[in-house]
Amino acid sequence: MSITIPSEKGQPTIRVFESLEEFHTETKQSVCHGFFDTKANMILATADSVAHEIGHYLDLKSGAFKNPDKETHPVKKIKACLRNEIVAILFAFTKCGDGGTSLSYELQFLQWLQFFRKAERFGPQPEKEISDFGLKEIQNLADWLVKPDHPWFNRLCHFFQTYLATEQNISTYGRNSVRLNSTQS
Ligand SMILES: [Zn+2]
Repeated sequence: MSITIPSEKGQPTIRVFESLEEFHTETKQSVCHGFFDTKANMILATADSVAHEIGHYLDLKSGAFKNPDKETHPVKKIKACLRNEIVAILFAFTKCGDGGTSLSYELQFLQWLQFFRKAERFGPQPEKEISDFGLKEIQNLADWLVKPDHPWFNRLCHFFQTYLATEQNISTYGRNSVRLNSTQS
């Protein structure tokens, strides 16, 4: 059974599903764990994806969300997708720790990011724990991370390979235009 958290002051209603199976059956969305229904002003998600979807929603509401459909160049499209997804993952992490990550690539990405921030002291505010970041700081970090000329851009694409392949109609990525091998049928 899903539970519905009523909206307050124009904020979206949140409908939380007990399982991924229930979410897929009820919403007919087969490739994601949650989404924001703009018409209904409602976030629909599995319990472990709620914080992630709220992150997307707040990013969108702040006006900083980058619409991949407005980008014509494939690398810029990917950059926008990665940036948006990273904001949501980091937001969920600041609210729920590892409990806000429902997919293995999200955890892999977080471990990579935390390791390199400590080891190389890279990115904005390297001395501050990500768990203490606010939305604006998360957005700044995501914007900074996804620049295609960074040496780790292809690595980011690799972490998010499945996501990029299922969420977007993208057949090539990165500076070397490597073809995506989707693991989804
Ligand atoms: Zn997402």
